[in-house]
Order: sequence, then structure tokens, then C-alpha cells
Amino acid sequence: MIVERTKFIFITGGVCSGLGKGIASASIGAILRSAGFSVFSLKLDPYLNIDPGTMSPYQHGEVYVTDDGTETDLDLGHYERFIDVSLTRLSNLTTGRIYEKVLKGERSGAYLGKTIQIIPHITNEIKDYIKLAASESQADFVLIEIGGTVGDIEGEPYLEAARQFKQEIGSENVLFIHLTLLPFLRTSGELKTKPTQMSVRELYRRGIQPDIILVRSDKPVTKEAIQKIALFADVCESAVIPAPTVRTIYEVPINFEKKYNISKIIFEKLQVASRKTRLEDWENLVKKIVTNHKKKMPIALVGKYNENHDAYISVIEALKSACYFHNVSLELVWVNASKLEKNDQSEYKKLAKVAGIVVPGGFGHRGVEGKIMAAKYAREHKKPYLGLCLGMQVATIEFARHALNTQDANSTEFNPKTANPVIHILPGHTAEEEKGGTLRLGSYPCILGKDSLSHKAYQKSRIDERHRHRYEFNMNYRERLEKAGLRIAGLSPDKRLVEIIELKDHPFFVASQFHPEFKSRPLRPHPLFRDFIKASLK
Ligand code: GLN
Repeated sequence: MIVERTKFIFITGGVCSGLGKGIASASIGAILRSAGFSVFSLKLDPYLNIDPGTMSPYQHGEVYVTDDGTETDLDLGHYERFIDVSLTRLSNLTTGRIYEKVLKGERSGAYLGKTIQIIPHITNEIKDYIKLAASESQADFVLIEIGGTVGDIEGEPYLEAARQFKQEIGSENVLFIHLTLLPFLRTSGELKTKPTQMSVRELYRRGIQPDIILVRSDKPVTKEAIQKIALFADVCESAVIPAPTVRTIYEVPINFEKKYNISKIIFEKLQVASRKTRLEDWENLVKKIVTNHKKKMPIALVGKYNENHDAYISVIEALKSACYFHNVSLELVWVNASKLEKNDQSEYKKLAKVAGIVVPGGFGHRGVEGKIMAAKYAREHKKPYLGLCLGMQVATIEFARHALNTQDANSTEFNPKTANPVIHILPGHTAEEEKGGTLRLGSYPCILGKDSLSHKAYQKSRIDERHRHRYEFNMNYRERLEKAGLRIAGLSPDKRLVEIIELKDHPFFVASQFHPEFKSRPLRPHPLFRDFIKASLK
């Protein structure tokens, strides 16, 4: 089933976590894509959760959702933004999912009574998955990022599967890239290569010889350090590529390619006819990002997972892209929803200062009244407002409280007994269902009203956007809310679900039940974010 022409690049990490393996993988994807190759990427996560869908945003950051409704690791957001592909359920595999499949097979007798073992049963499953990703995507290159650090117990089956994979499909089709760290010791004024040597040795012990070594460092990497690593790791010097801390993540592909010509090494090793890479768009973007724009754009992000900025990474990237588009720089103002809820005046002051307010997605009761207050503030003060999923629900609740003159309008998520459930559970689902896998997930079509701000932004009537929620706008309130000034700007094609609301008497108040941030791209900001920033400029 494997696509013959597909080339595979494994990316592993050494020394420690947090070096930016996801960004490095995504950047390599962007470089190959710029040369006209099709690229598919996947992340192998060593943890035992089936998927990141139920993991805490505090611990794991954002859950990124693909078109086909898979809840995935936030690295997939980087892949989509850098490579500009639409990834699928095959882009994120966890150890939990592999074991689930193998154990189900064992119970149903698929293994004919054999002893089930990590090698070959788990490793075979991993290899089959990679092959399936290649055959379904038909991509020229499949990038496979192995989560964690070489040496982690959890990562062993993936490394073993990768080693076997190369044996199986030929060394001319598989490339290993290893990302490590060069720590700088101030006392001796030196970059230390020993941790890199050790981590390459760890790879050797698993039968893997890296082809390219990317070395992260906060200091310029010296020639001596490169020579030393090349010698110990048995690669040529040109394959030891410095990955210094750059001004913006979008500079990473430029560094790898323009400075170190990484594509040449990849093409040579994988015996691919070389093609010219074109990174001009990225270079222009970086120029815009690093320009010290006179105009700052203060935007409030009213969140509750504020301690971990990764929880809102796609929203922040979408805001930044829209700002680059308008040649302004984003000044993100973190507003704490729980503090707003407690009437903390310093949080209110922040709302007064910003040019626009974003209420992003979220789950659970905590901080919701604060988000409702933020929507109220935006409505009353005519500040541009962008609501994303929960941000639409709180805007609906707020408007209902005001328009229907009732304080108990609510979502049944926050008050199951409310007499005015303007947001309620998705028909066909019950709150009692298991937590994992009961959401409305993935891409759904939406029809835009001709007279809406959304239509003006998208310049078309039918759009497709990604969802991740359980609750919906309650149609029983539609008429009354519309009469009071709410505009239903987007509906599902069967007109049963409200996908976008707007306020008529307001310069820019747009809130969507879907998550537009997932489809925003650095080089192509999302229309709603773009117009939200435009409105905030005024
Ligand atoms: N908690 C809300 C729901 O489940 C909103 C979810 C979200 O913002 N992603 O419908």
C-alpha cells in the first residue's frame, strides 16, 4: 500500500524537551513545499492518552482540530500554518491509540492466539500507520515527528519502529534529523557539545544514524563546535546545522535554507532531483514582523488559561497574522476572566484601554461571568468584538439578558436549571455522555447572510469552518433576539444551527460558533480576524 515515490523524514529530539521540534519539523515542511513538493506531516506522541482532546489546556496547551474533526496536539497547528496543508486523523498518533487498537484486535481474536508483544505488534502498528499516511496523502514527503526526547522510556517503540522502517523501505527513502541543544557555559565562555554527543550516542544504541543534526543554541555556533559534532556523530560538517534563537518562528525556515541550504542535503540523501526553493513570501513576512511598526494594536484576550499562553496559540497566531497584514504590531493584553468576574477594577481598566476585545473558546463554569461582562463591555462601548465558540455563546447570553431583560439567561452548561436556556445542549447529545468524543467536531459548512459583516469579510456565501463544542444557540430565542438587534449572520445549510451572530447597531461585533483561528495562515490571515483588526484600527 505504500506510495513508491514517497520519501520519509523522521525528526527526533535530544538532550531536553522544549527545543522547538515542532517548529523545526514544520519549517522543513515549509521549505519542501516552497519547492513545489507535496508534504504531509504527522506527530507520534508517546503518552497513553488516546488523543489530547481531554487533556488540560494548562498542561498540554491548545487542542488543535483538523478538518476531519480530529483533536490533536498543538504542533499540528504549526504544521498547518507553515506547510499550508489540511491535515487529517492520520496526523497525530498516540501510544494510547496504538495500544487500544492492538488490544481490541487481541480481544477479537485477530492475532490467532499469539503472544502480543511490543516488537513486533506495536512496532508493526506504528509502521502501518506511517504507510497509511503516505498512501492516503499521496505526498512526496512525509514528515514524522517523534515526540519527547531520545532516551525516554515511552519513546522506545517509536524509535524501534523508525529503525525497522528504514530497513524495510530502503535507506534512500528515509532520512533522520536530530534536534539537540548546545548549552553555553558562561564561566568557561564555551558552547558545550557533550550533551549532543551523548544524545547521538543514544540514537546509535537504537540503531539509528542521524543524517542531519540541528543544533539549538542561544549563542552563535562556532566552527569548532560544528567540527566536533560532525566528527563524533559521523556526519559531514554541512549536515550540522545551527538553529539559533531567531526573532520570530517564521525565520526558522529561512535560517535552515538560506544560510545552510538544508534542502540540498535532503535531496542528495534521499536521491530526489533537486528543485529550487522559494522562500520570498516568508522573507517578506519576517521583514514585516521585525519592523518596528509605529502603530501598536492593543487587543484584549479574555481567557482563563492565561498562565499557559500555548492554550491560545492559534488565536494569538491569527491575531498576529491579521496585524502583519495591516502593518501594525499586536500588543496582546491578557485579561483574566475570573478576575473580571470578581469585579477587579484593574481588569476593567484593561478593557477600557484596548482597541478590540477577543473572547476565545473554553469549557466549564469558571470565569464565564467575566467573559459575559467583557461581551457586555464591547457592546455598550462599541468596541470591536470577536467571539470564538464560547465567545459567541457568552455574547448570546449577554445580549439575551439585556434584550429579554432577564438576568437568568444562560447556557445549560453553566446553569442546567435556567428558565432561559439561550444556549443549550446539541440535540441528540446528552450531558451524561462520556467526556471524550461527544463534541461536534471538525469542518461544517455555513451559509452567510448577504447583509452581514461576515459576508463582507469572506466575500462569499458558503464557508467551511472547524468546530469543537457541545452546546448550541437555542432557536426558540431566535426571533426575539433578532427583533432586539441581533443579526443571525451564518446558519448551517439546513438552517437548524446558528453559526455566526453579529450586532446590528455596532461597528464590529462578530462571534462564531466555530473556531476560525484554526484556518488562519501567517501568509493568509483569516477574513474575520483581518476585518476585526481593521475595525480596531479606527
Ligand atoms: N463549552 C462550550 C461548548 O462546549 C464552548 C466550547 C468551546 O469554546 N470550544 O459548547
